[in-house]
Amino acid sequence: MSEKINCGNCGMLLYFGEEIKRRLYMRAIPDESAVYAGYGNVCPRCGNPLSDASVKVQIKRRATHGS
Ligand SMILES: [Zn+2]
Repeated sequence: MSEKINCGNCGMLLYFGEEIKRRLYMRAIPDESAVYAGYGNVCPRCGNPLSDASVKVQIKRRATHGS
């Protein structure tokens, strides 16, 4: 599973990679709030305050063959 986080206002790509819940398990990054904090909790493009309510999170199965 991969996860993509876009700004809910302008669509700026904020995070793309391994599903954060999985990373949480692996202790790679704490949670989505760490992603927001990496941007100072605002969208770098439009200044939209970042929170679970103001972003779009998409979780997708990886489209690989033979899995
Ligand atoms: Zn934005």
